[in-house]
Amino acid sequence: MINIQMVDLKSQYQKIKQEVDIEIEKVISNTAFINGSIVKEFQNNLAEYLDAKHVITCGNGTDALQIAMMALDLKPGDEVITSNFTFIATVEAIAVLGLKPVLVDVYKDTYNIDIEAIEKAITPKTKAIVPVHLFGQSADMEAIIEIAKKHKLKIIEDVAQATGGEYTFSNGETKKVGTIGDIGCTSFFPSKNLGCFGDGGAIFTNSDELAESLSSIVNHGMKVRYYHDKIGVNSRLDSIQAAILNVKLKSLDTYNNARIEAADFYDKAFKNCEKLITPFRSKNTKHIFHQYTLVTKNIDRPKMQEFLKEKGIPAMIYYPVPLHKQKAYESYGLSELSFPITEELCKTVISLPMHTEMDNEQLEYITKSVLEFTEK
Ligand SMILES: *Cc1c(COP(=O)(O)O)cnc(C)c1O
Repeated sequence: MINIQMVDLKSQYQKIKQEVDIEIEKVISNTAFINGSIVKEFQNNLAEYLDAKHVITCGNGTDALQIAMMALDLKPGDEVITSNFTFIATVEAIAVLGLKPVLVDVYKDTYNIDIEAIEKAITPKTKAIVPVHLFGQSADMEAIIEIAKKHKLKIIEDVAQATGGEYTFSNGETKKVGTIGDIGCTSFFPSKNLGCFGDGGAIFTNSDELAESLSSIVNHGMKVRYYHDKIGVNSRLDSIQAAILNVKLKSLDTYNNARIEAADFYDKAFKNCEKLITPFRSKNTKHIFHQYTLVTKNIDRPKMQEFLKEKGIPAMIYYPVPLHKQKAYESYGLSELSFPITEELCKTVISLPMHTEMDNEQLEYITKSVLEFTEK
């Protein structure tokens, strides 16, 4: 049987092993493990790739979100609006600072934050919006910018699943996601579109003032050593990870295009299947398929997962429980509210293997097996 994984990091590593190993070896030899010059080099390279003025690396994507909110001076009790259909880290960062997460529903087609729902959720206490570019596709940034301007809100983009993704404005201007709002936050968790060999994250901004604040917060709130102007955290990308990311960044577009090609293959195979709705791609986004997520119709999802598992095909549910139903968030009084789209998606979505090393043999086998189940 062919070996199929949700994410195949081993095969990806084999192709860049020589270069990566040399770069890791260099860091070990010169022992600048923390804040080595390679970290600065990677920050500059990523800033250039994104066309962002500043990139500040940090320990992981969750920290990136928290640090962004600290830099924007959000205070306990301030309300932050975000999507109910995302990974927990997005709301965690809000809650951990004593801010109030205000969850809103998403669109049925893009799975991204619903613009009208944002408007309805705004109160005098609202300070920021955190759009999540879920599964690799940009949220509707033009509309979000308009709302933010109207209500004087900050925008923090959660780019953890979409590094390298793009959004095109109605005037034709295209930008990389994460460089559109006030601050963009990403993760280099190994399975993300740009992943390292451990934990890592980064924060993007075009504001000099915010960049200065962010750089100080990631490093104990200091600019001059042992003089602490702000309350900060310790959140750093280590030099070994920066060295690896420097190598992988060169292939990011190739990696993202490989994902898009795999998604094209899936789309074509499932086009006529009435029980599966293939992922929607907005005309004004470059969807880079962090996940390939289908919506199932009249399907016993656990049975489908079991059937695929027996054939050696992993399939995952991102995400099985809406955030407002999570035990840890009960005290926010969200569980009584209704989020019909998120609730329906949690019951019906299924994600198929998606990574940079998918070949036609694997794709044929997976699609044939999925269709064998749906046609039963
Ligand atoms: C992965 C992820 C994060 C958190 O990143 P970590 O590096 O794991 O802390 C935040 N938001 C979303 C949407 C993610 O997928």
